[in-house]
Amino acid sequence: MKAAEKTQEYKNSHIYRLRHSLAHIMAQAVLQIRPDAKLGFGPPVDNGFYYDFDFGDSPISDSDFKDIEKRMKKIVKQKQVFEASQKSLDETLQLLEETNQEYKIEYAKELVETGKAEGGQLGFYVNGPFIDMCEGPHLEDTGKVPKACFKLDKIAGSYWRGDEKRPMLTRIYALAFENVDELKDYIQRRELAKKREHRKLGAELDLFVIDDEVGVGLPMWLPNGTIIRDELEKWAHEVEFKAGYKRVSTPCITRSNLYHRSGHLPYYTEGMFPPMVIDDHDEYYLRPMNCPHHHKLYMSRPRSYRDLPIRLAEYGDVYRYEKHGSLAGILRVRAMSMNDAHIYCEQDQVKEEFTKVMQMYRFYYDHLRLGNFRVRLSLHDKDSEKFVDSEEEWVESENIVREVLRENNIDFDEEVGEAAFYGPKVDIQLSNVMGREETVSTCQLDFVMPERFDLEYTDRNGESQRPFILHRAPLSTHERMIAFLIELYGGAFPTWMSPVQVLIIPVNETVHEYAKQIESRLFDNMLRVETDLSGDTFNKKIRRGVTRKIPNIWIIGNNEMEEQAITWRRYCVKDQVKLNIDKACANLIRWRDERIMD
Ligand code: ATP
Ligand code: ZN
Ligand code: ZN
Repeated sequence: MKAAEKTQEYKNSHIYRLRHSLAHIMAQAVLQIRPDAKLGFGPPVDNGFYYDFDFGDSPISDSDFKDIEKRMKKIVKQKQVFEASQKSLDETLQLLEETNQEYKIEYAKELVETGKAEGGQLGFYVNGPFIDMCEGPHLEDTGKVPKACFKLDKIAGSYWRGDEKRPMLTRIYALAFENVDELKDYIQRRELAKKREHRKLGAELDLFVIDDEVGVGLPMWLPNGTIIRDELEKWAHEVEFKAGYKRVSTPCITRSNLYHRSGHLPYYTEGMFPPMVIDDHDEYYLRPMNCPHHHKLYMSRPRSYRDLPIRLAEYGDVYRYEKHGSLAGILRVRAMSMNDAHIYCEQDQVKEEFTKVMQMYRFYYDHLRLGNFRVRLSLHDKDSEKFVDSEEEWVESENIVREVLRENNIDFDEEVGEAAFYGPKVDIQLSNVMGREETVSTCQLDFVMPERFDLEYTDRNGESQRPFILHRAPLSTHERMIAFLIELYGGAFPTWMSPVQVLIIPVNETVHEYAKQIESRLFDNMLRVETDLSGDTFNKKIRRGVTRKIPNIWIIGNNEMEEQAITWRRYCVKDQVKLNIDKACANLIRWRDERIMD
């Protein structure tokens, strides 16, 4: 479904009419306490609605919220009917001038001048004493608003028409849902999301830093965050090794020729940093994708059908010019490391290879407990210039991918205009606690690059053939994947990924020596361990470990020393167990090696 259709569907929905009606109800209530306020726009939004006001010299604050809400409830009780009407521009101006609504006057004139007002007529809705220029739709009457389904949320400044040269208006945001339970649920989720927000936890747990002097969208990973990256990367190396991938390494910067050949210039220019000119007067680009380099490696040797499939893998650093406004912590950045690979295969191997990739992402997702995802088949848009122009091949390759999904019984939605410029993709869309959805994994079928790079292999009959290419990134980029994991786990990583895997807390000085022995034993086994030898109280030490969300705390007292044991306290688990030291070490090593999701 295209975005425009979505909006139309939303506009006809009950929730839209409810939110829209509430905006009128709120404006009416606000005018009761500020009769001279001038109205701006008041549309529904994803979690409710807002309305912009110019309060002149008598601003309001959130201490007025209770009063406004009370008045809104009264208006709901009055069951004011929403009545639609049409007015000519003259009538409209007369009406709006009486009430001094200068912003609405400006907008009314604009609608007529730009021909957006059908037949020069402007739509109005009246409910009770309140009239607003508006296209609707609304509920039949204010009494249809469910009990306690809304709540005023916050106040923010907002320029009229989003233009900083125009007056600053006051925007009142409100939450509104179908019923009180949905509202409560939303508020709860938002509280949780605030606590789990990856930027907040990223700072608290010393994972990464974004520094203005370095640049927006260019995160730097602290030692703790780098451990998580390394663990994911090690895992990917193992999984890919077992699946027959070979690792390669290629540079992050390259001559423009390469991108003219690949078509990144012009198809992907907007997503790239501008070029730099150096000694040979050639332009060099930071790479936005790893593919062209891998194709070059493929081409660097003659290839035979016996070599195929060839799977070249690289956790490749890429740089993309993402719009400033779209950057979000490490979820969307400008410098990232991608779990990338390109699979070169024969036509009759495409389905099998694609299926294997889908199985690989399922394996990762099941293991990481990434549950809340949807599969999207991303198609080209034949009316858009963002895609290589070759209708027949698009349809053919889209059919192949669709079949793979069907044969594997994977539920999916189709979305036009979301393909890569060189072919259709299957995108795995994950939502965070607040429902913000992003592509995490992707697998793409490419029918363009083999031609552009003149890729070949010799088939069984000694004839030259074009291979097919799959692009895939099941673990996404470190940046996006870790943003999701931080929020999913609330910063409490399983032992195998955790920056500190064990914190040893000796309860008194007589056991310091024993504690140190255990520490070096774990350390020698390549486990990340710390011992708290500070003079702080026991409780304070525990609290510090919990705040840092360390998964395992080993408590050591005289008893433990005598029995060659430890008392094991798990993060957020009440019961603690005493365990023989050999067993405890063996457990920990097994959890680490098997990547147990403890
Ligand atoms: P998007 O549509 O999210 O911009 P894309 O389709 O351009 O992504 P691909 O070229 O398919 O992305 O890149 C592979 C994967 O890299 C994506 O599926 C996504 O998980 C991740 N990724 C892409 N862009 C970014 C970014 N700016 N920051 C972090 N991760 C990203
Ligand atoms: Zn309206
Ligand atoms: Zn690629």
